[in-house]
Amino acid sequence: MNDAFVEVVTESDLARRISQLGAELTEDYRGREPVMLGVLMGCLPFLADLVRATDLELEVDVLSLTRFGHDGRVSIMLDAAVPLAGRDVIIVEDIVDTGLTLTALRRALELRDVTSLATVALLDKAPRRIVDVPLEYRGFEVGDEFLLGYGLDWEGKFRNLRSLWAVMDLAALTQDPAAFAELVFGAPITR
Ligand code: 5GP
Repeated sequence: MNDAFVEVVTESDLARRISQLGAELTEDYRGREPVMLGVLMGCLPFLADLVRATDLELEVDVLSLTRFGHDGRVSIMLDAAVPLAGRDVIIVEDIVDTGLTLTALRRALELRDVTSLATVALLDKAPRRIVDVPLEYRGFEVGDEFLLGYGLDWEGKFRNLRSLWAVMDLAALTQDPAAFAELVFGAPITR
């Protein structure tokens, strides 16, 4: 059971790296007022921690995407409230995998006459990339395992884990999600 799930990035590793990313953004965007634009839902813990590590007069906003099929088509289901024309926009993503989603999002935002566009992704699954998309800031490069926690879900759950876990055996999770919950939350879930 314990071989099926491995904690790959601890809470303290996350805190350390996010404070470095915040310091880099503070330096690079000094004198500007960027919009930090989170991509729901996976961005939420990262966005909350990253903006508090960034000492700028920034604005925070979110949008939500719907993906169609497997060819990277996306549409914006919930749009940002802040008008983005003339703004320095920093996309905040949980993870870049194939790169298809980020490519489509960047294209959509470029049409809005933004002053600049950059992306910060907590995780970069570089080995799985199928389209070459600019990624200006990234927290960690990871392998191709399925990851959970710190915003990343399995069937809507486990986003609230404070660290990141790799699922080495997806069948084990599918067959017995309660066993994983017990491992990470420490007590059996009773219904
Ligand atoms: P891409 O278009 O780059 O292939 O996909 C990016 C999206 O796929 C992420 O925003 C995330 O929702 C999802 N994703 C990619 N890898 C993982 C993973 O390991 N775990 C989870 N929970 N979601 C992932």
